[in-house]
Amino acid sequence: MEPKEHIHCLIIGSGPAGYTAAIYAARADLKPVLYQGLQPGGQLTETTDVDNFPGYPDGISGPEMMVQFQKQAERFDTDVRSGWVTKVDFTGPKHLVEIDNGKHVVSADAVIISTGASAKWLGLESEIRLRDAGGGVSACAVCDGFFYRGQEVAIVGGGDTAAEEATYLAKLCKKVHMIVRKDHFRASKAMQHRIEKAENIEVHFNHETVEVLGKDAVEGVRVINNVTKEEQVLDITGFFVAIGHKPNTDIFKGWLDMDETGYIKEVPGTAKTNIPGVFVSGDAADKVYRQAVTAAGTGCMAALDAERYLAAINDEVEAEA
Ligand code: NDP
Repeated sequence: MEPKEHIHCLIIGSGPAGYTAAIYAARADLKPVLYQGLQPGGQLTETTDVDNFPGYPDGISGPEMMVQFQKQAERFDTDVRSGWVTKVDFTGPKHLVEIDNGKHVVSADAVIISTGASAKWLGLESEIRLRDAGGGVSACAVCDGFFYRGQEVAIVGGGDTAAEEATYLAKLCKKVHMIVRKDHFRASKAMQHRIEKAENIEVHFNHETVEVLGKDAVEGVRVINNVTKEEQVLDITGFFVAIGHKPNTDIFKGWLDMDETGYIKEVPGTAKTNIPGVFVSGDAADKVYRQAVTAAGTGCMAALDAERYLAAINDEVEAEA
């Protein structure tokens, strides 16, 4: 890869982590360039109202919040560009990054990865339509559960996330239906005990979703027992999908230390990766919290770590001169 441009601080990704890193990096005079990726604004552009980000007492829509993040980053002269990073070479010391399959190649002194993760969806037409319409389909109970207080909801999945979100929802909702495709949970025993203890969670083992019902808002869900082939309609107003997330880290495989599911490992308590000058923030490294506010927090950490790293290499260059 032959670089056509050199960048002091490159940020990849435009969710809360990337923009927060940009705000801090720009204010530290690191002249950040931020590539937005395929989904400018990240996962929050798929959410309706955000009520749990401090500083917005009346709530704000996810897409609107991301416009404000971008404006704040640009106010300090972050160079925000559209473009999709397709390849990296972290052999170093300058890090090479290819954009849009070779349309552009840059080298960077510091790289902050904020590529996030994507929720997995079932892929049903009704599910995606109602999700996009903000009609009661969500992949985040902590973000959206509050809107269904006192109502009946369903959640799909049998792993730790589904179990954790089901118990969260059970505290708010009248009843929670868990739709699990196998005859057993994948979740840990400890999480299973929590489900058993909650009186208002009904687990439907061996069930799969056929269709989410409703034109503009969820009015029910049709499920099928995959053993008996019997169908039934669950009378719900909120439909949650918790079948896993995929971190958007494929292009970094082979360069950065990752866990078995592709989450980038950071040096504990920092945003540093195993490669000097490459930092990570947000959901690309976080399979536990996955909140806008935690992503923003780690974006700040990444920019501060990058600033210290760049100052140290600058000192080295000056000492050699
Ligand atoms: P998992 O991959 O562990 O579980 C996904 C669940 O969704 C499984 O029950 C799976 O079913 C089901 N599923 C997948 N695809 C479909 C589909 N198309 N239709 C219906 N069901 C489907 O993902 P999680 O997000 O739950 O967890 C990810 C990782 O994070 C795990 O390692 C987990 O332990 C960890 N985690 C830990 C927590 C904690 O410790 N507090 C909290 C949350 C997550 P099947 O079993 O049949 O494949």
